[in-house]
Amino acid sequence: MNVSTPRRTKIVATLGPATESPEMLDRLLAAGVDCIRINCSHGTQEEQRHRTAEARAAAERAGRTVGILFDLQGPKLRLSTDTELRLVGSGDLITFVGSGAAVERGDVVVDFPDFVALVTERSELVIGDGLPRFAVRDICADRVQAVALSAGPLSARKGINVTYARPNLPAITDKDVGDLALAAEVEADFVALSFVRSAADMADLSARLVALGSRARTVAKIEKVEAYERLDEILDASDGIMVARGDYGVEAGVERVPLMQKDTIHRATQVGKLVITATQMLESMIHAAEPTRAEAADVANAVIDGSSAVMLSAETGIGEYPVEAVRAMAMIAHAAEEYPVIHGRARGVHPPGSAPATVLHAAVQLAQALHADALVIPTATGGGARACAKYRPDQPIIALTHDPIVSQQLTLEWGVIPVTASLAESVEELVDQSLETARDIGGVPVDGRVVLTAGRRTGTPGATSLIMLREIPPKGP
Ligand code: PEP
Repeated sequence: MNVSTPRRTKIVATLGPATESPEMLDRLLAAGVDCIRINCSHGTQEEQRHRTAEARAAAERAGRTVGILFDLQGPKLRLSTDTELRLVGSGDLITFVGSGAAVERGDVVVDFPDFVALVTERSELVIGDGLPRFAVRDICADRVQAVALSAGPLSARKGINVTYARPNLPAITDKDVGDLALAAEVEADFVALSFVRSAADMADLSARLVALGSRARTVAKIEKVEAYERLDEILDASDGIMVARGDYGVEAGVERVPLMQKDTIHRATQVGKLVITATQMLESMIHAAEPTRAEAADVANAVIDGSSAVMLSAETGIGEYPVEAVRAMAMIAHAAEEYPVIHGRARGVHPPGSAPATVLHAAVQLAQALHADALVIPTATGGGARACAKYRPDQPIIALTHDPIVSQQLTLEWGVIPVTASLAESVEELVDQSLETARDIGGVPVDGRVVLTAGRRTGTPGATSLIMLREIPPKGP
């Protein structure tokens, strides 16, 4: 691999007040953004609708395929608006109650009526970004007594995380239901769910998307300790996951983030699921034009470990240097891909015994053995391109599809260059179209060798049964 090969790791950028103008969006896409994140935790539905439309318009102007990821807020708990600012010292005893309960002097009210029912003996209560942190001492009737393990402030509307909570909290809140309807209306390509606790939460999300007629692919944010404990079942129930380091650091402690990140990326890539590494990747660039060396090393390590995508949050949402942040991330990721071994190569064929999956595995092996210049994969559903991407081949994977939504849903897949093309009438036409696309869009030189797959029929899901080795033709007259 060298830096003249296209960047394989994808970049997600969160839109916000700093980046919603058409000019800024044009610059972000030119700097290398592959997928735009709409963070439903901030802003109104009107703003999200507007941001999505502007992002689609910018992709159209750039002639690029760009994905849209809606990130649902999920069941976020907060202290009530009446909470008075106070500093808690380590060892202090504090009583928490749910909204609507009888409040005694000194009680701290959480803005959720059934708060106490959520809390278990082994729960910890974590405020804001991690301080203060409480261990539960006693749960009785409608009150929870907790002892502060660390010092810090309590104040109005601060977030409160409950570890090992009972599953009484709905996975998808009323606000999320409204945001999901918007995601379906604007045809979001991906929907991420926050504070996932189990596979059932993701099954709920998928069922709701189907009911809304949305084809969005699902992303589980791994940010609760219980989600990490159930990672395999959540992976099974999701199209991809996000290593959401912000809230995971709050719940588990920042010292637990690095190993959880490495293990989560490893386990996701082993089963061929996409994985986004997120939060504070270039945090100092909110106010500075250059990243720190530590941030550069963090992005590079996420890339070397096999992340499908790396994400910018506040850096592009509210930062002073959003374009520089995207450029820096693109350059760091691209340079890191020179590392001799990019991890995250799935083992074996999934699903075992499937003919198309085995053919695609063989196509990847052929491309590797012959040092081909590219894999060219016509795909009706995107599945063919994903089946190649999970082996992290050295070759770029040029994915041809006639469906723009499938194309947009490939923007987060490692090493995939999604191209929307008209539906070929015959296999011969498909082969010609594929070779021309590899040359004109994929940048494969004339006479370059590509491994191409096809089926007996074009545009048919699961029909891949042919592997061809072809040379790129010169441009016709
Ligand atoms: C996170 O917690 O790391 C995260 C990505 O979620 P959010 O930005 O919604 O806090």
